Amino acid sequence: MAHGAPLSEAPIRPVISVKNPATGAPVADYPVADREAVAAAAARARRAQPGWAAVGFAERARILRQVRDKLVDEKDRICAVVSGETGKPHHDVITNELLFLCDAIGFWGKRAARYLSDERARPHLLKNKRAYVSYHPYPVVGIIGPWNFPFNLTIGEAIPALMAGCTVIIKPSEVTPGSALLGAELAAAAGLPSGVLQVVTGYGETGQHVIDFADMICFTGSVATGRKVAERCGQLLKPVTLELGGKDPMIVLRDADLERASSACVYGGLVNAGQVCISVERVYVEEPVYDAFVQKVVDKVRHVRQGPPGAGLVEVGAMTFPPQIDKVERHVADAMAHGARVLVGGKRRTDLPGLYFEPTVLVDVNHDMDVMRDETFGPVIPIMRVRDEEEAIHLANDSRYGLDASVWTKDLARGARVARRVQSGAVCVNDVMVNFAVTEVPMGGWKESGVGHRHGPGGIRKFCAQQTVVIDRFGTRSEINWWPMTPRKVKLFRRVLNLFGSGWRRKLLGS
Ligand code: NAD
Repeated sequence: MAHGAPLSEAPIRPVISVKNPATGAPVADYPVADREAVAAAAARARRAQPGWAAVGFAERARILRQVRDKLVDEKDRICAVVSGETGKPHHDVITNELLFLCDAIGFWGKRAARYLSDERARPHLLKNKRAYVSYHPYPVVGIIGPWNFPFNLTIGEAIPALMAGCTVIIKPSEVTPGSALLGAELAAAAGLPSGVLQVVTGYGETGQHVIDFADMICFTGSVATGRKVAERCGQLLKPVTLELGGKDPMIVLRDADLERASSACVYGGLVNAGQVCISVERVYVEEPVYDAFVQKVVDKVRHVRQGPPGAGLVEVGAMTFPPQIDKVERHVADAMAHGARVLVGGKRRTDLPGLYFEPTVLVDVNHDMDVMRDETFGPVIPIMRVRDEEEAIHLANDSRYGLDASVWTKDLARGARVARRVQSGAVCVNDVMVNFAVTEVPMGGWKESGVGHRHGPGGIRKFCAQQTVVIDRFGTRSEINWWPMTPRKVKLFRRVLNLFGSGWRRKLLGS
């Protein structure tokens, strides 16, 4: 194995063979970390953590800024590795992985100390007490990541945990293990102390070992795996956050700016070949603007360039994971069998060696079709005509998911009103996906899209055990509720209880 030392001490077999999805060419073989290997990584992390916590926020931020410099300097190598195992264009690695990650380093570096400083509370009742809450980093955080943003959703997810003073063990997707390994290697070369950030590669079983040995789990992936992770964490009573799938609706109201909305629809539906948890997965357009909107989307999709990352500038590259392109094919076939029409695209490309599905627009779709109900996670934009705002909201909410959504209108008050009624962890008005870049506010799912969130103050506090400290201010000899209990005290407490009741009769005359 080329990157990092952690696994070299453990008994391992090279059994993950990664292929470039854009070309089909072999990329590399990676080891599968077994239980002993993960236990050893956790032991190293536990040894490293007290020192990492002790250096303090300013020093951790300084080291992470060094890491950021390294990432900036090595951007071409990172692009090559990430693109080589995902099939995405290099510019997508810059815009949708590295920019977010480098921004996150500055964001958490500046705010971690404030978000994790002791929080004072004024007791409303017991004025003779002082109280505050303090945050204690979980020593070892396990991050289990997906393949769609294999750099940002592994190394990027680790940044707030590292700033909090935790050590991190990443279990990247078996589909894309090289990205996180490279990230950890670059971080170590930039001065991150040994044992603070480790990567263990493997399949789901390795993920289960990480759950067993870490103190807190931060999982991003599918709903099906999320349930298994939650189950294991439930058995062990370990804290966990679950960032899961989505079926994000776009609601285009009759007064929308159709030019901007159609461009957003095309970008939001097709970026990263549609393999984004917060991509535009289904579109509802009010009747009066439906035809004009569809026409604009179709025209723009026809101009989208698709091809291998290295072959000139393309907007859409290959899909990453063979079963995923099969699923996209199934969704389109199911929709067509139920009466949907393909206006552009609609099939797997056979003129290229890799995993390419044509950018696709579907109309005459309805909620009996998989493409409107299940996460497609591919370059498919199904557009549905709706009578009015009410029907759009009703259909948007007719989903087991609730991750992100967008509402399009020139009337911002209307946009905010509609947003409030959409059952989703985030809603963008006149924009798509952009909430991911607004790190100040939480990003997490409702319904089956997850539990917990990233970003915002809670996005770093989740990596800490919370401790409440209550201090007696005056040091009196005893407290009134302490023993010995006396008839007078009993009478007094009964009177006090009566005061909680409503109406003077209850308050003053109660027994
Ligand atoms: P996945 O659930 O198949 O795998 C995710 C990770 O879980 C992988 O590392 C995998 O090896 C590991 N894993 C598998 N079984 C496990 C088990 N039993 N215990 C522990 N770990 C196990 O997901 P994927 O296909 O890699 O990613 C795509 C999914 O991720 C999509 O549904 C997408 O919407 C979702 N996603 C969500 C977000 C978000 O922020 N909400 C972001 C990106 C992707």
